[in-house]
Amino acid sequence: SLSAAPLDAASLGSRDTLQRRGLMFILSSPSGAGKTTIARMLLDAEPELGLSVSATTRSIRPGEVDGRDYHFVPQTEFDRMVEDGEFYEWARVFGNSYGTPKGQIRAGLKSGRDFLFDIDWQGTQQLHQKAQADVVRVFILPPSLEELHRRLVGRGTDSVEVIAARMARAQAEISHWDGYDYVVINDDVETCFAKVRQILHAERMRRTRQTGLIDFVRVLTSK
Ligand code: 5GP
Repeated sequence: SLSAAPLDAASLGSRDTLQRRGLMFILSSPSGAGKTTIARMLLDAEPELGLSVSATTRSIRPGEVDGRDYHFVPQTEFDRMVEDGEFYEWARVFGNSYGTPKGQIRAGLKSGRDFLFDIDWQGTQQLHQKAQADVVRVFILPPSLEELHRRLVGRGTDSVEVIAARMARAQAEISHWDGYDYVVINDDVETCFAKVRQILHAERMRRTRQTGLIDFVRVLTSK
């Protein structure tokens, strides 16, 4: 190249390194395995990571905020969104509907923004089929069934019946562990968070996501 302009990582890239495509970071686990805590820690620590806020027909829990944790919508509104093709994926979980709105995710990914998805194995499968190259699938396991039960009871938000149903569901959910790229056991929240964060950082460096590499390497090999 005869270009006189000095090109380096700073002039080619926009963020921490080169320009890159954002990734879809999926966190799944049986409820009670600590996924929500890990998700919050990740979002706090990673400014380039945004949460994909799902729509759901289930009722709001104490402490949850409409529009932050979920978009809480009536079934009729959910059905309309399905009809109008507004979801990347949707599924029935515990008798309620959950779906991932396309919203700003597409544009965000293009501009290098990462998105965190707290969705179940069914949604993970659907997203992977639709956007394989962008998807990173992480599964969090509880250290034991006893600990899982302890955490579900400790949360204090669900009835005995709901907890029993969630325990049964947890074991069904765990049987889908092989549909994921990474599996992390959450016996200590800080350690688990650090591991999940390492996965995110490593995946950001995947060659195929670093769209700025083509120009950068052209400069490096130009003489
Ligand atoms: P919860 O009602 O405890 O917040 O969530 C129940 C389950 O639904 C969790 O396993 C959660 O990951 C899953 N879920 C939440 N949002 C979505 C979504 O948009 N799509 C799918 N497929 N699952 C979701």
